[in-house]
Amino acid sequence: MNLIDVTRQFATEEKCLEYIEKMRWPHGVGCIHCGVMNVSKITRETVGANKRGTIYQCLEKGCGKQFSATSGTIFNDTHLPLTKWMMAIAMICEAKKGISAKQVQRHIGVNYRTAWHLCHRIRAAMKDGGLLTGVVEADETYLTPKKPRKGKPYVKKEKRDIVLGMVERGGRLRLVPIADAKMEIIEPMLEKHISPDATLQTDGHPTYAIISQRKWTGRHRVIDHTRSYVNGDIHANTIENAFSLLKRGVYGTFHKVSIKHLGRYCDEFSFRFNRRDEQKQMFDSTLKNIVNEKALPYAKLTASPVSEA
Ligand SMILES: [Zn+2]
Repeated sequence: MNLIDVTRQFATEEKCLEYIEKMRWPHGVGCIHCGVMNVSKITRETVGANKRGTIYQCLEKGCGKQFSATSGTIFNDTHLPLTKWMMAIAMICEAKKGISAKQVQRHIGVNYRTAWHLCHRIRAAMKDGGLLTGVVEADETYLTPKKPRKGKPYVKKEKRDIVLGMVERGGRLRLVPIADAKMEIIEPMLEKHISPDATLQTDGHPTYAIISQRKWTGRHRVIDHTRSYVNGDIHANTIENAFSLLKRGVYGTFHKVSIKHLGRYCDEFSFRFNRRDEQKQMFDSTLKNIVNEKALPYAKLTASPVSEA
């Protein structure tokens, strides 16, 4: 969905609310407290950002509560107009190499902290699941600083952020930050994301040979990078391309991504990659996930411990 469509379709709070309502209740409005469909619609004069123009009243005896299409969603925890939410979602979906919070701040006219928090909450809704199938290329990559900063010591390879990438040929991508490129860490990750029926395609790294003997017996293809990069159908170019896209985003757009948030950036990149020809669906699935997702509070975002992807 391009930005002109977004400004047109989501010009007012009411239009946004209507869209969210249809998305949340495609088969008719149900009470969010007790689940009955016996509800009545109340239209009122909009007062303030968090007062919705359309609300519902549950008519069930013993419930009788009121709610709106955004009740219980993260839209209600912010005072940000829905029109700005929609614009930010569209901008993130549209940006192939990602978009910085600074840029979102300028475009929608909010302060930096709000923009940063908003971007992370949208990013948190861009998450895919399911096992990868068919021919799956797997490899890991090291994220390094753009260039060594003057006076700063060289960053040892094992101290850099590592991302494990897995991609179906002609299909879906999964990027996962890992603490170390050790077999004990890579093996469970491959198992978690790749179907046992898949054919694994990797480089000549011995770790993959050992893992595939156990889990993908007889279905492991190797491209020996010391000899060549492509041997007919045997190559790891798809994952290499995905890595370079991620790096262009991390270095070019965000400049520096804290390891704490790297998982969310990885999810965002995969999510976009997986819907590269479906802008409208990408917008809708992101919005749907936001509606169904629990809020990602600012305090949780800025808390220190890093949980492993
Ligand atoms: Zn109710």
